[in-house]
Amino acid sequence: MDLGIKGKKALVCAASKGLGRGCAFSLAREGVDVVITARTPGPLEATAEQIRKETGVTVTTVACDITTEDGRNQALAACPNPDILVNNAGGPPPGDFRDWDRDDWIKALDANMLTPIFLIKATVDGMIARKFGRVVNITSGAVKSPIEILGLSNGARAGLTGFIAGLSRKTVRHNVTINNLLPGPFDTDRLHTNMKVKADQAGISVAEMTAKRAAENPAGRFGTPEEFGDMCAFICSDQAGFMTGQNFLMDGGAYPGTL
Ligand code: NAP
Repeated sequence: MDLGIKGKKALVCAASKGLGRGCAFSLAREGVDVVITARTPGPLEATAEQIRKETGVTVTTVACDITTEDGRNQALAACPNPDILVNNAGGPPPGDFRDWDRDDWIKALDANMLTPIFLIKATVDGMIARKFGRVVNITSGAVKSPIEILGLSNGARAGLTGFIAGLSRKTVRHNVTINNLLPGPFDTDRLHTNMKVKADQAGISVAEMTAKRAAENPAGRFGTPEEFGDMCAFICSDQAGFMTGQNFLMDGGAYPGTL
């Protein structure tokens, strides 16, 4: 299927690795020029080069912390009028809520709630004026089914989800959709960090915990960044203009509810 977005411009945040990288790749394969961000220049440049080589699109890199105002300004300077915005940042650390103080909560809110809101604020009116816009927020399966050790993520992402539910109904009339993509367990660095915490808690090796968790998923495996990226690209497609305010869960069927 031709997704009808060749020649569009995308700002894909936190995209040198993992799910953001998967989204940048899938959009680029559809002919979308991408601006990608991450804090560490080395892996960011390496990813940019791989995307250029494979797809031939224009790839611009911005090495910045997207959770800061300065970082967002740098990203927006490189891509002031995106047609597509993929909001992403690292997830907050796991832990016990008794150990978290106000600063820990503010950091989580900045990264996983306020950064996407400010980037939408900076770009949505241009999308409305041009009569095309696709915003995808990478959130988490924790929005539907909270993960006990990820309380900071459960809280911050729920706030973003509530905000998006309201705004997305205001923009769709102008062919600007805003949706959330909720990863369950995907095979990325982030997942392996969480596996280490769980393995330490259970007193088993990381390899044992990883194999156990993959086997427990109804799909018998973790998801891949490529699968995630292709879903993101479809949500950004020309064909997806009648879908907004949705929370698309990709978790291999792990969430057990009927709806
Ligand atoms: P990952 O493999 O660790 O990759 C994170 C990417 O984000 C890297 O490119 C990293 O590069 C960049 N990044 C992190 N913090 C950043 C910041 N402040 N500014 C700019 N770039 C930043 O993580 P992932 O698994 O793809 O996870 C992506 C998001 O999905 C996270 O919020 C995570 O919590 C959520 N999630 C993931 C899973 C999963 O199974 N993988 C499940 C549920 C939710 P630098 O470090 O160089 O900045």
